[in-house]
Amino acid sequence: MDEQLAFSDDLTGSASQLVWRVLAVDDDINFQRATAFALGDMAVLGKRIELIQAFSSREASMLLAEYDDIALVLLDVVMETEDAGLRLVKSLREVIGNRETRVVLLTGEPGLAPAHEVMRDYDINDYWTKSELGADRLLTVLTAAVRGYSQLKVVSSARRGLQMIVESSNALFCSKSTRDLSAKILSEITSLLGLQAEGIVCVRVEDQVLDAAPNARVVSASGRFTNSIDGDLESLQDPQVVAALRRCLLEQQTLNLSDCTVLFFPQYQAGADYACYIASSRTLSSTEMELLKVFSASISRGLHSVALFSRLEEMAYQDDLLAIPNRNALIRMLDMALNSEAKDQRVLVLVDIDNFSGANTAFGTGYGDFILGLVAKRLRDAFDSSVLIARVRDDLFAILGLKEQVCAADIVALFHHHSRAHELGQVHSLSSVTMHLSDFSGSARAALQDALLALKQAKQLGHDQHGIYDPTLQRAHAESYRLLLALRDAVDAGQISVALQPQVDLQTMRVIGVEALARWRNSDGQMVPPLSFIPLAEATGYILLLGDLLMRLALQAAKQLADAGYPQIRVAINVSAPQLLQHDFVERFKSHLVSAGVAPEQVEVEITESVAMRNFDAVCEKLRALRSMGVEVAIDDFGTGFSSLNYLRVLPADRLKIDRSFVLEIGEVSDQQMIAEAIIQIAARVGMQVIAEGVETQQQADWILQHGCRQAQGYLFAKPMAGAELLDWLGAWSDARS
Ligand code: C2E
Ligand code: CA
Ligand code: CA
Repeated sequence: MDEQLAFSDDLTGSASQLVWRVLAVDDDINFQRATAFALGDMAVLGKRIELIQAFSSREASMLLAEYDDIALVLLDVVMETEDAGLRLVKSLREVIGNRETRVVLLTGEPGLAPAHEVMRDYDINDYWTKSELGADRLLTVLTAAVRGYSQLKVVSSARRGLQMIVESSNALFCSKSTRDLSAKILSEITSLLGLQAEGIVCVRVEDQVLDAAPNARVVSASGRFTNSIDGDLESLQDPQVVAALRRCLLEQQTLNLSDCTVLFFPQYQAGADYACYIASSRTLSSTEMELLKVFSASISRGLHSVALFSRLEEMAYQDDLLAIPNRNALIRMLDMALNSEAKDQRVLVLVDIDNFSGANTAFGTGYGDFILGLVAKRLRDAFDSSVLIARVRDDLFAILGLKEQVCAADIVALFHHHSRAHELGQVHSLSSVTMHLSDFSGSARAALQDALLALKQAKQLGHDQHGIYDPTLQRAHAESYRLLLALRDAVDAGQISVALQPQVDLQTMRVIGVEALARWRNSDGQMVPPLSFIPLAEATGYILLLGDLLMRLALQAAKQLADAGYPQIRVAINVSAPQLLQHDFVERFKSHLVSAGVAPEQVEVEITESVAMRNFDAVCEKLRALRSMGVEVAIDDFGTGFSSLNYLRVLPADRLKIDRSFVLEIGEVSDQQMIAEAIIQIAARVGMQVIAEGVETQQQADWILQHGCRQAQGYLFAKPMAGAELLDWLGAWSDARS
């Protein structure tokens, strides 16, 4: 048996201690014989004495090194040399490090007693002259020595046990997961007790059924139970073991049985009820149990702190809704990937669900959550577990893994497969961008930002777009920045103006309104298209300032029109989401109207369908306020978003603008014109006016009028014009018609 488990708390506790070993060291053969005879059938404290004899100090020191359970050494002080005996004791204590074995010195003649200091320093119990040591006296001496020895043995093994517990406890506190900790608990306990490593740690799981037998999940297991990790108790396939664990959990206490010990760690200490089963071939002694109790306190603390740690980890690195890694987790892994040797083999794919925010608004967050769950699950199922699937935000997912594991084409296929399409409601496709980390040098955050930008650009082309991150994009990034700086200068330098594009009533051919469109003529005299600077201004927040300016310019134009005798021509102003959603937008708008001296009725606000649907409640509130002032509201680019009829019915708007893309194909055989037709009908149904934009041909104009849309805007009538030009155009237009 291993000395480590000599936790004997009584004199019969340890298996090796069936006898008391006594070593007699004397070169005097007569004394040795007499001693052997005297000890022959002597019993001390219930055990026999086993005599070992050494006839020289050399022999004795070998025996002392070999046996570590010698209770007593009867030692002749004077042997080969004067001090051979004392040297032996010195080596026993100082070299072998044995402090428990008792030593009784024997001298040939009285008067040769060792000095008091020697007795003290070498922890020598007693000394006698050989002649004094008759059988009776020998029994007394032995009894005292054995008692001393066994007490010392208990103390020192307990100390060793405690020392090991301290070491084991330290080992436990390095654990970061419950599974890792549980495995350590098993190995530490079994080695502490010198048992073969066979055990189970399980955590109680709450049963739905009241009063059901306690059930538990196996957190860690060793030996023959290894296969049950993560399984329930039944998976252990050993009714006796299961019964012991159940009983422990039910009685909420540690069990010390003949063939096993089941430790209990209560919820109030460990965070949950844990039971730890240790197989043993014997009943543990009460000292062992006492030590286990001490160790258990450490284990409970360890379990508790690991649970806390993993909860914190979860909070910091897991998405609440989908229980998959979140943006923080992605950044952490991406950071490692970018700094790893295998960087060049890795790819980052960002995946975004097309139409998601519209659908989320139209069908409710329940539907949105469902779609998110579906996408997350499908991504998770499609890739090896070493591939990271994270939710970055909203409907944006990230996949990080090795090139051969993660291929954008697979992702596309995943969502294109026919049998699966309907699950995604058929309305959703995905767009993605793939970034080869080899193409990127920079931080994880920058990589994510650049990949996002690439995704945004891919998505500008429409739905179901799958792009590859292009390192030259970084240059585009820098260009964007330069453009933004130039835009700020342009605002200060007065290079920004508005152009006005007429809107016409197709029945009367009267001009009913104009749309104000931003124009930027740069210092080189070139026009910078609004689609290159408006989205940039929106993305950077600069649109608030720019939008304010555009609004003032549009209102000036409205004032000009009214002053020139066209107060009935409404001016439509494009308003971006960040502008509209400012808390004081309505007040600002009102004060601009007042300072421009324009009647609210002469103004219309255009917001895009996607803006309206994405922030439905907040937008409705603003639009209602605007309309109550008399300002009209148009929903721009209608048909590209995802409005449901129910939302449209309550949306406070006067007019739907059919997006140019639907008008474009009128006259050709396509389903785009069916959409145009549907929009016209929807507008009628919800009691709104409808206007078609981008009308370029007479055929398109005829078609829309025939189908019930009376209003139109487009190159067929006029391109956007500066204010003065518009006044000339209006004069010519009315002249031609009178
Ligand atoms: P939008 O609001 O849909 O504006 C209509 C766009 O279609 C304008 O382009 C206009 O010039 C163009 N267009 C009009 N008729 C026709 C036609 O018959 N055929 C074709 N092919 N195009 C036609 P523009 O001026 O380049 O503006 C582009 C976009 O920039 C606008 O789309 C709007 O989203 C944004 N934008 C322009 N000005 C402003 C503004 O002042 N504020 C805000 N927030 N956005 C603006
Ligand atoms: Ca517009
Ligand atoms: Ca439009």
